[in-house]
Amino acid sequence: MDIKFLKGVGEKRANAFNKIGISKLEDFLNFIPRTYIPRISIRDLWKYREQNVLVYGDVIDVQHPRKLNHPVRIFLYDRTGTVEVPMFGATEFRSKQFRLKEKYLFWGKVSEGYQSKWQLDYRDHLKIDILNQNDINFLKYHYYPVYELSGILKKTWIKPLLLSKIVFNAFFTLFNSGYIFDETLPNQFSEEYNLISKKDAISRINFPLKEEDIEISRKRLSFEELFYLELILALRRSVTKNERKGISFKTDITPISENFKKALLFELTDAQKRVINEIYTDMKSETVMNRLLQGDVGSGKTIVSIFGMIAAIKSGYQSALMCPTEILAEQHYQSINSFIEKYNEVSGESYKVSILIGGQKKKLRGEILQEIRLGKTNIIVGTHALIQESVEFQKLGFVVIDEQHKFGVMQRGKLKDKGLNPDVLVMTATPIPRTLSLTFYGDLDVSKIDEMPKGRVKIKTLLREEKDKNKIFDFVREEIANGRQAFVIYPLIDESEKLDLKSAEENYKYLKKNVFPEFNVGMVHGRMLWYEKDEVMKDFKDKKIKVLVATTVVEVGIDIPNATIMIIEDAQRYGLSQLHQLRGRVGRGAEQSYCILIGKNLDDVSKKRLEIMVETTDGFKIAEEDLDIRGPGEFFGIRQSGMLNFTCTDLSKDKDILDKAREIAFKIVKEDPQLRSPEHNVIRSTFIKNFKESIKLMDIA
Ligand code: ADP
Ligand code: MG
Repeated sequence: MDIKFLKGVGEKRANAFNKIGISKLEDFLNFIPRTYIPRISIRDLWKYREQNVLVYGDVIDVQHPRKLNHPVRIFLYDRTGTVEVPMFGATEFRSKQFRLKEKYLFWGKVSEGYQSKWQLDYRDHLKIDILNQNDINFLKYHYYPVYELSGILKKTWIKPLLLSKIVFNAFFTLFNSGYIFDETLPNQFSEEYNLISKKDAISRINFPLKEEDIEISRKRLSFEELFYLELILALRRSVTKNERKGISFKTDITPISENFKKALLFELTDAQKRVINEIYTDMKSETVMNRLLQGDVGSGKTIVSIFGMIAAIKSGYQSALMCPTEILAEQHYQSINSFIEKYNEVSGESYKVSILIGGQKKKLRGEILQEIRLGKTNIIVGTHALIQESVEFQKLGFVVIDEQHKFGVMQRGKLKDKGLNPDVLVMTATPIPRTLSLTFYGDLDVSKIDEMPKGRVKIKTLLREEKDKNKIFDFVREEIANGRQAFVIYPLIDESEKLDLKSAEENYKYLKKNVFPEFNVGMVHGRMLWYEKDEVMKDFKDKKIKVLVATTVVEVGIDIPNATIMIIEDAQRYGLSQLHQLRGRVGRGAEQSYCILIGKNLDDVSKKRLEIMVETTDGFKIAEEDLDIRGPGEFFGIRQSGMLNFTCTDLSKDKDILDKAREIAFKIVKEDPQLRSPEHNVIRSTFIKNFKESIKLMDIA
């Protein structure tokens, strides 16, 4: 049946539904409610103070206001009582549509009105036709689904209750026509893990008969989502493990050779040595390396990647390092270059490092591209400028992605594709909570640096208010007099927010003129050209600039060991992990460092969040808290990835399901990588139907 014949749809709305991917009745089965509203009797209104509820009854009176700005007053009656439904801003046309003695379902928010009488502040309504069986059936529920109303639907005047009814009509019609649900999980799962059927889950999550149905159904659907996600990851992993086409780098590279040692200014930590060993083991083997290097801010990941890059060069390959910002690319370029210069000196080699970022002069860019293509440069550092089509490598064998969480999964792949099955090392300083890392990096092997370089002093974190600013600035003055430097961060969460930029710029001017007139104050933000940023960062590194006013462009990776103060204004506007990153810009040398969070009008929740920062410097703990408070969608940096677009899963609640789903998926792929055994039929067919873009994984696994 064409959806336009569904009651409440029609031609225009059918077109709108088409635009959001709904053209058949079955497509409505993909709808998942955003929330639910209980339907109650008028007698029970008092129990639902300030809550949204539905009430079904007769309209017995409609009073039109005599004054503008007064509401139309509708009176609704059910067998347990009468309630007034004030409807503000209603046109005469709208209020006249209510017919006395007709039946309606009203949605409103319960509030205490005139003379403490309970009333229902109008939100929406739906007319019920008691001669229509479909309408009558619609009235048998105690909880009603509310769906996301996209802009396209809103334009066709679909209101929330009507949308629920349309979805109900679609379900009703489907079931009456004997529609058969494809089961998506094997029978033995439902027995072993206590899961209801797909059909029940879908019908009950939309139209629960009792409150518990919602959670039971959600868990069943979440299990499915996580199981197939993990299945893809398991297959991917199995594929990369069996790819025998990887590079086997020379076996005479030893983890910490004499030349490395001589070029190094410090002693590696045991953790660094251990992960270098893990990386070298992968590099020597001919399977393709796909390794995630996790290590908290400041744990020294860069040098580890340099060891990998040099090992690749020694075997005659090029190495590339991609990072998310130009400032960071420039910094990596500087530090890698100075290491390589020393290394060349002690080893007699003549390796070359280049940098490729957007905005470089055409001529220079041309020269660099040429050198990359001809193999005249060995290490190429850059931003996503590296994955542009014009970039061709002579022989790319080793790829490093720094601050991986800032890139989408696709971008990781694109750089990899520029080589011949190169080994890939992705690094992240944002400690991803375990639950997320399993889903996000589930196809990677993981190395961890769980130890900080010796001699680091723990950063002191303080939470302060606006009114403490003068004292804070006095303190900064003292520190600078002792030779230190400071960052002052202003929020510019979305770089397109002009307003924020203005505030950062104004604050910069103010600090420069009124607070620190005796010092050189600099500013850096994302909208500056790369060489402008570069100049400022160099001056800061060379201690010419004492106070650096910045936006979050300095958030990742920046390494200025002499800076000991990090002041973050409006700290409540950031995610905890982001604050942790910013804090990680100090405490990189041997001096005591400070992170001062300035909060503005903090409510209890924000205060609690910021206090977590004061209590702990453990990035993993912070990330777990952040995930719990904000949920994965908001979790810093993950949003763009497109990998975590769950409809039913809530990772902060469903850790157990994830563990189970992962365990089963990996076990199945291990035993039956092509899913050919009859007991995996359901899985195989569901996979083929729903994950077309990943089917090839199954065939080659
Ligand atoms: P991150 O892991 O945050 O990327 P970096 O690689 O930028 O950290 O390293 C942070 C700082 O620590 C750098 O200045 C680096 O030179 C220094 N560093 C790295 N390893 C050691 C070590 N083993 N001992 C002393 N300093 C180190
Ligand atoms: Mg780093």
